[in-house]
Amino acid sequence: LPDAVLAVRIPRYVRINTLKWSIHEAVKTFQNGGYTLGNPLDQKLKFARDAHIENLLLFPPEAQLTDTPEYSDGRLILQDKASCFPAIVLSPPAHPTGAIIDATAAPGNKTSHLSALMGNQGKIFAFERDRKRYDTLKTMLARAGCNNVEALNVDFLTTDYNNEKYSRVTHILLDPSCSGSGIINRLDHLMESEGAGSNVAHTERLAKLAAFQLQMLRHAMKYPAVEKIVYSTCSVHPEENEQVVDAALRSTEATAGGFRLATHAEVLPTWSRRGQPGILSDEGDTEAVVRCSPDDATNGFFVSCFVRRHGRRSTIS
Ligand code: SAM
Repeated sequence: LPDAVLAVRIPRYVRINTLKWSIHEAVKTFQNGGYTLGNPLDQKLKFARDAHIENLLLFPPEAQLTDTPEYSDGRLILQDKASCFPAIVLSPPAHPTGAIIDATAAPGNKTSHLSALMGNQGKIFAFERDRKRYDTLKTMLARAGCNNVEALNVDFLTTDYNNEKYSRVTHILLDPSCSGSGIINRLDHLMESEGAGSNVAHTERLAKLAAFQLQMLRHAMKYPAVEKIVYSTCSVHPEENEQVVDAALRSTEATAGGFRLATHAEVLPTWSRRGQPGILSDEGDTEAVVRCSPDDATNGFFVSCFVRRHGRRSTIS
């Protein structure tokens, strides 16, 4: 691999599962175990609290945490910083009558994050199409102590948005399958795509993924009571990110349902890396979406958020 890729080092991020533990207990436990607060990219046995996410800790990239009791019993969740953003942006309702959907849930890191933000109250419908990944989802949710999740082995595109069961769903998280091109140890894909021979296949694959992602977003917009949809990918390609968002904003579902893009002020306002310029029709919208890159010490990632204009409901059947 080229030096630029080999040189990338991002911390091992650990989200503290607040359904089972607190950040203060976690910090104390690691200190008792020999870690001291400091820069985890400089030295072994250093760890730090994240500057943006309250319940996130940073460890050296080599830190092995999967053989600890805290990982086995679900107090720790290994989750990249950027992938914590979608649940935070969605900001799900934390009250007993709240209902939300995680449309593409396995292995369940974002579902358990949502469950923690909701304090195990209300209801999360977690959909997963793939049977094996659904089994993993169930295992992870049980380990994390998520009692407010109903996991369903279904294809989101076949779900009936008019079903009474979903009539109270106000928030949807959509983190669908993507090229995965932002994942650090897969950045070699980017290098491959430079080759002339692979360009056609690469373009075709992205077009297919983008069509699927747009279809999923449009389906989410049909849920009658939905007020907020967060769309995220771990892709660096605008085809799967800004272009999908732009097409979704111009879809009949968005127009009929009264959806707009949440603004810069509503989506992680203190995060400075925003969308790729020149793709979204409205330049303000470029500022409204979030990107993450290895330069931010995270994987490549994209987050956007759609909100319904006050008083509108989907009338699409
Ligand atoms: N949000 C997950 C997390 O943070 O742990 C990761 C989701 S992964 C990027 C996408 C998942 O969506 C895969 O498990 C895939 O099997 C599932 N999926 C793809 N298409 C789907 C569909 N139409 N309905 C439900 N699940 C789907």
